[in-house]
Amino acid sequence: MNYSGVMALPSTYADRNCSLARSLEIVGERWTLLIVRDAFFGIRRFGDFATQLGIPRAVLTNRLRFLVQEDVLEHVDGEYLLTSKGVQLWPVLRAMMAWGDEHYSPGGDKRTFWHEADGGRLDASSRCSSCGAEVPPSDTRIEPGPGFRPGTAGPDPVSALLNAPRRLLEPLS
Ligand SMILES: [Zn+2]
Repeated sequence: MNYSGVMALPSTYADRNCSLARSLEIVGERWTLLIVRDAFFGIRRFGDFATQLGIPRAVLTNRLRFLVQEDVLEHVDGEYLLTSKGVQLWPVLRAMMAWGDEHYSPGGDKRTFWHEADGGRLDASSRCSSCGAEVPPSDTRIEPGPGFRPGTAGPDPVSALLNAPRRLLEPLS
């Protein structure tokens, strides 16, 4: 594994005429999209990322530094916050979650997404079943779905908070 965080993939994959390859250089490394996901779930502190992900701290340090360098996260007063550029990754994460639910979660969706304003269920494109709007993450409530299984690593405060319904991007308190 490349711990430098500079290149996500062997250079043979990095076709300069393909923006997917370019994007994967930023978010394609192991752990990176999970860190971004947890930032949407309201995790902001280094220790909470480490607890939630079970990621080696040196790797986490490296990934966070790279995401700040690429303006996906900003580091403010000891907290890591998604930038507007980072928030733009939400449709990517949402689509991958939906794909995983459809093909690898026989018990049903792991998590469900709802429009905070009117309680409408959101589809994989974040389209509200009630009002028809495409709902941004800041107006999205997330809840454990029928396929959700609590982690086997034992309860911890971060997981307990994440397993309760909550609005995306609201800081974990
Ligand atoms: Zn709605």
